[in-house]
Amino acid sequence: MLHYHTLPVTAFQQNCSLVWCDQSKDAAVIDPGGELETIEWEIERLGLNLKAIWLTHGHIDHAGGVAELAARQPLDIIGPHEGDRFWIDGLPQQGAMFGFPPAQSFEPTRWLHDGDTVRVGQETLHVRHTPGHTPGHVVFHAPQIDRCFVGDVLFAGSIGRTDFPQG
Ligand SMILES: [Zn+2]
Repeated sequence: MLHYHTLPVTAFQQNCSLVWCDQSKDAAVIDPGGELETIEWEIERLGLNLKAIWLTHGHIDHAGGVAELAARQPLDIIGPHEGDRFWIDGLPQQGAMFGFPPAQSFEPTRWLHDGDTVRVGQETLHVRHTPGHTPGHVVFHAPQIDRCFVGDVLFAGSIGRTDFPQG
């Protein structure tokens, strides 16, 4: 069974989410933009084994904490689509522009493509490439809990719809 817990982080209060498999307690953190102490405290409170960082896109409020978190422990950095490489390379400048704590760029372990899947423990989520907000934006769809982790993409209709257009 897949579980999730959402934590608003950074001055922008964007939704960072922890997702995990309850059999293995393996977890991924989606969009750790900052406030790493809060995120790590939740991981400890929930008794999870953090394995990976998943990214919807390269804006600082979503990706600003990635380099520091990945420096503290070995983690795969999964996503976003390579269309956001310039946003990730520009994280230090984004930080200065928006008054965020200093952020470093990084190289993802794996760029994502439309139709890819990502795994956490026994659970699989589906990747959709959703350019618009940024060229490399992706969303993570979890049909088993009728939930989509959408980053800064807004879908017409309710969050959690499962009838994504193919394409
Ligand atoms: Zn954004």
